[in-house]
Amino acid sequence: MTQTEQLAARKAPAHDDLTASLCKQLSIALAKFPRLPLGHFPTPLEPMDRLSEVLGGPRLWVKRDDCTGLSTGGNKTRKLEFLMADAVEKGADTIITQGATQSNHARQTTAAAAKLNMECHILLEDRTGSNDPNYILNGNVLLDRLHGATVSKRGSGEDMNAEMESLAADLQRKGKKTYIIPGGGSNTTGALGYVNCARELVEQATNIGLKIDALVHATGSSGTQAGLVTGLAAIQSDIHLLGIGVRAPQEKQEGMVFDLATKTADILDPVVNISRQDVRANCDYVGPGYGLPTDGMIAAIKLLAQTEGLLFDPVYSGKGLDGLIDQIKKGYFDGMDNVVFLHTGGSAALFGYSETFGLPGYE
Ligand SMILES: *Cc1c(COP(=O)(O)O)cnc(C)c1O
Repeated sequence: MTQTEQLAARKAPAHDDLTASLCKQLSIALAKFPRLPLGHFPTPLEPMDRLSEVLGGPRLWVKRDDCTGLSTGGNKTRKLEFLMADAVEKGADTIITQGATQSNHARQTTAAAAKLNMECHILLEDRTGSNDPNYILNGNVLLDRLHGATVSKRGSGEDMNAEMESLAADLQRKGKKTYIIPGGGSNTTGALGYVNCARELVEQATNIGLKIDALVHATGSSGTQAGLVTGLAAIQSDIHLLGIGVRAPQEKQEGMVFDLATKTADILDPVVNISRQDVRANCDYVGPGYGLPTDGMIAAIKLLAQTEGLLFDPVYSGKGLDGLIDQIKKGYFDGMDNVVFLHTGGSAALFGYSETFGLPGYE
């Protein structure tokens, strides 16, 4: 062993020790917040060997938050463990939330409310203008109703927060104790779920001797990325985090994430310092708009279905993957060995977009 190698061998465990103690400290900080078990954790971390081979870039891994178990799973489950616990603690019996027609957040919220014996009201905003019967009735909308929620529609561009407030006032007059969850479950309480996910992922990687260079995922209402930014900062991780935007332009998206990460970091003990440069969003893969298909998304979903047997969704994770694949081709990850894609779920929405894929009939 050369002297440098000896030094490296001595340093590596020290670094692991620091990470382990910071992870433990973060667990203790998170344990101060009420949390109800709604999902299966930790979610698996798996290699995507066929995809890595086809793309010829870094080794690709997938963090399976599509496997959280709650009504076909997805990233909202981690947020809802904290949000629903807060609702229960505040004595609520009725949950109100909002989203786009094919909202995965709405679907997971309806399931969580059912499990906790709460009434659930969902307001769905028509952001795409689609009249495809599958889009407006199948996929997540079917599951919202199956879980027993009251589902109503709102037009594009309505003030959804005001709509939720006015519904809450109506329900309160009828004696209900309402609790409003913001769109995507993205406030500091919800973001705690992804603070914890950062810790979970780093511990998982350490256990299998994996050094993660970058973590990529779809970013929308910003709670997922804000939580990850905060969690990674808390454990002093140098993982390069990249959000792929699905709606807002870059400056707005990064601003939303930074704002929520700062607020989330402030409620932790000890307080975590968030630096603006750790917030990165690439918003070049949105296409014509939120929820509207792109060729890159369609190609990415087909590629993953046919190389890895994995299902991604047209609105979020499919566009996130499109960004990942294109950025690998453009050399963004050059020099990195291991890149993890956080699978945020959403495959139930595929059934709302069946026309999009132009698949052939029977042979
Ligand atoms: C909500 C959602 C996202 C985005 O997460 P945010 O916390 O809203 O940024 C990504 N993927 C899927 C499948 C989602 O449902």
